[in-house]
Amino acid sequence: MNKLLSIVIPCYNEEEVLPLFMEEISKVCRQISSDGSVIAGTCFDTELIFVDDGSSDGTLKLLRTLHEHDASVRFVSFSRNFGKEAAILAGLKNAKGDYVLLMDADLQHPPKLIPDMLKELMSSGCDSVAMYRNDRKKEGFFRRHFSSAFFKIMNKLSKLNLVNGATDFRLMKRIMVNAILDMPETNRFSKGIFNWVGFNTKWLPFETGERPAGKSKWSSGKLVSYSFDAILSFSEGPLKICSFIGIIFCIISFLIGIFHFIKTLIFGDPVAGFPTLYLMMLLIGGLILLFLGITGQYLARIYMEIKHRPVYIVKEDENSLIKEDINA
Ligand code: UDP
Ligand code: MG
Repeated sequence: MNKLLSIVIPCYNEEEVLPLFMEEISKVCRQISSDGSVIAGTCFDTELIFVDDGSSDGTLKLLRTLHEHDASVRFVSFSRNFGKEAAILAGLKNAKGDYVLLMDADLQHPPKLIPDMLKELMSSGCDSVAMYRNDRKKEGFFRRHFSSAFFKIMNKLSKLNLVNGATDFRLMKRIMVNAILDMPETNRFSKGIFNWVGFNTKWLPFETGERPAGKSKWSSGKLVSYSFDAILSFSEGPLKICSFIGIIFCIISFLIGIFHFIKTLIFGDPVAGFPTLYLMMLLIGGLILLFLGITGQYLARIYMEIKHRPVYIVKEDENSLIKEDINA
């Protein structure tokens, strides 16, 4: 019997690139479903699950048309933009496949690599095949250095072991997808979650393609705030650093106290050093505020988690079209 491969594709304002993406992905779907010799003697039925993350262009309209022409093209559409992480979760929840593949809509994750990924998964016995970029040089100076610093800091501060250049382009077995769906958190950092759930992952290098149409949705500011979110959701490292610096300051002040006490006993000097005093007050005041801020960030996240708000809200999916038909 054929296995089912679900391909999950988050989309935010991708109407320009979607027709090109469909052309490429359809070729691959035909290849892996008809030519059984391609992947260790297995044929795959495929379903495409597009998640429209509250697009304001014609993405949803296009997805409706695609579904009407081919029922294996499914879609979920959000009531507003909830972000790529929410779109990934919705896609994984709706996927019915024995295997699930996650990829971007903009052809930067080349569909032609899918047969190789399937081959690797079937032959190596691992639970997931994930792709990392080995073409960082193509990126701008800021993005390249920022990304590699992020991966280093993240691995130092958390118990995760993220591969430098890791992307969300990933093929997984059902058992791993179910483990990911069991993670209840609202603030989701998927790269961390994929790593945290464990299972054997085989990493393959790839070169990201150029985006043939449309624009990247990630500004530098968004990337920085995404990185902070990621660190705060997988590491208590910043809190430990605060406590550590606090302890160091206590020890230093204790030693300075002893020094002044002995100095006064021996020399009988009056205590001088007004500038030192106010500089120290400023420094310690600043540190206290900084540390309170960091603690506050964790508190804010606890507050958001405890509200148990849904990660996303679905406005429409392929079943809504059927309901509309019945009601008409
Ligand atoms: N995306 C999304 N919601 C967002 C931003 C992006 O679903 O709020 C999707 C987007 O449509 C694309 C993928 O996530 O399929 C990667 O986005 P993009 O190409 O903008 O990111 P980059 O490749 O520049 O990191
Ligand atoms: Mg992209």
